[in-house]
Amino acid sequence: MPADCLFCKIINREEPSEFLYEDDTYVVFKDINPHAPVHLLLVPKKHIRSINDIQTGDESILGGLFTLAKKMAKEQGINESGYKLLFNVEKGGGQVIFHIHLHLIGGWHKRPSHL
Ligand code: AMP
Ligand code: ZN
Repeated sequence: MPADCLFCKIINREEPSEFLYEDDTYVVFKDINPHAPVHLLLVPKKHIRSINDIQTGDESILGGLFTLAKKMAKEQGINESGYKLLFNVEKGGGQVIFHIHLHLIGGWHKRPSHL
């Protein structure tokens, strides 16, 4: 792990964050600067810099992110209204944290919970 990786530090609990989900392979937490009513980051614990750096053997980690996205979307009540899944790749693609993560973004059309 690079010593300066913020997401590795969050995963190792060296930086504060509240996990909405954690298992041996992933953590999920809210984006600190949300672009939508629901904006979660789904983060593999393995330090992979970006999509450019995935290797043979990483397929199950990557594939599992989508199963996790489906689960988190349902938990957030946005599975039916819909959502976006996004990987930013390298600086030109808008990536600022160089530890691979999937953005789960939605909730614009979420019905209020009292309805
Ligand atoms: P990206 O542009 O794909 O690298 O996304 C990085 C995201 O991490 C941005 O949307 C930031 O708002 C978010 N972020 C940065 N620091 C934190 C933090 N400490 N906790 C939660 N999200 C963060
Ligand atoms: Zn990292």
